[in-house]
Amino acid sequence: MAKRRIGKIITRPGLGYGDSDIEIPIAQDLLKVEGIPQRDAEVSYYSREFPLESFALEHSASAEWAQTERSEHTPATEELYRDYQKKMAPWIEKIKRSGDKTPKPPVDIGDHTEDIRDKARQLGYGEIGFTKFDRRYVYQSRKEFVRTDLPNAICLAYEQGYVETQDMPSYVSEIAQGDAYMSQAELSLKLVEFINEMGFSAQISGPAWHFGPMIPMFVEAGLGQLGVNGQLLSPHFGSRARLQVIITNAPIKYDSAEDYGIYKFCELCQVCFMRCPGKAIQAQRVWFRGVEKNKLIAKRCRPVMARYSGCGICMKVCPIQKYGMKPVMEHYVETGEVLGKGTDDLESYELENKGYFRSGKVPVFDRDFFDMPEGRLEHNLLEKLRSDLNDSTSLDDKYEHKLLLEFKDRLDTSSENKGKVVDMGMDMEF
Ligand code: SF4
Ligand code: SF4
Repeated sequence: MAKRRIGKIITRPGLGYGDSDIEIPIAQDLLKVEGIPQRDAEVSYYSREFPLESFALEHSASAEWAQTERSEHTPATEELYRDYQKKMAPWIEKIKRSGDKTPKPPVDIGDHTEDIRDKARQLGYGEIGFTKFDRRYVYQSRKEFVRTDLPNAICLAYEQGYVETQDMPSYVSEIAQGDAYMSQAELSLKLVEFINEMGFSAQISGPAWHFGPMIPMFVEAGLGQLGVNGQLLSPHFGSRARLQVIITNAPIKYDSAEDYGIYKFCELCQVCFMRCPGKAIQAQRVWFRGVEKNKLIAKRCRPVMARYSGCGICMKVCPIQKYGMKPVMEHYVETGEVLGKGTDDLESYELENKGYFRSGKVPVFDRDFFDMPEGRLEHNLLEKLRSDLNDSTSLDDKYEHKLLLEFKDRLDTSSENKGKVVDMGMDMEF
């Protein structure tokens, strides 16, 4: 007899184009909240008074540091990132110009939701949803690029390769991510062309060139909920979803946020929290910028990502990623347990030159493993200059001149580096 009573059944389209719908049973005791708990007025306040900015800019000091660490620890991965950067650059140029195209005159100004959904599914996107474009989630430095006359958001999730992802962290799983980005770039441009042909404008956010965070809009569009690992847990492939948003003025109907039971399920699961090698994931939720979430500690995460091919263990060990939401929720209804929890099949991983870690075992790092520069690179350089000048014992013009020249050189290099990919998932072209 099933251990849990079913609270509701969510019907979603099948994974591939033409596949039958799937039904996901959500246990009564997991039902808690549709979407993400949030205080709307606070989200608005923070976005107005403290606008969001990209991690690549706000944390450029550690980004540069990470590049050096990666070259030393996993030079092949660093080389791979550079290769993808070269391959992605022409696509990014097209994505940046996607909103410039003049559409054909519209033939039909009626609802185009299903036309777009069908086309996106044909192209190969696994999860598609529609919502209002929320401008509160645009980075300050991107605001001038983002069109203000396109009020609707098409949320598109693309599946990263399954087999390679189970090998995280590794060179091959980074290839899977890079390949997913390349496919997304091509497919999104095709979808924009389709929308332009119907008579409407569209502009693309992602991959590798984003307007800002996308998960809140995906949740509003009913495409999953936020996990403890800080990732979108989507119905078919959990956190293995690579996200893009296309904004448009095409008339569409909005979907609505769902309660997939993830809020409560994550409280029972906690596998990503327990398995994170950097102890970067918090067990408890906090309110941050108007949203209740498990806040990731970047200074515990980046040192691991930099030395172990982007890490991603928090993605790999998530049961929703590995088995899909339907089997996981069915298993919970039947047994009251988290599918795979406590097994090596789900929880084990290998860190290059560190060893294999079975369920229950985690690596130990020295305290100085986590030493890294924080904040913006230019602020760090200025601070170093100030301290060097303070430390100089005599007023020696030549020495001070040398320090200033060094400072200028480093500043120039940091500006040149702003266009480079620092981690596989990061934005280019700031
Ligand atoms: S990427 Fe690795 S270190 Fe960072 S939060 Fe995930 S598991 Fe932890
Ligand atoms: S591993 Fe468990 S706790 Fe972490 S996001 Fe996935 S379901 Fe939630």
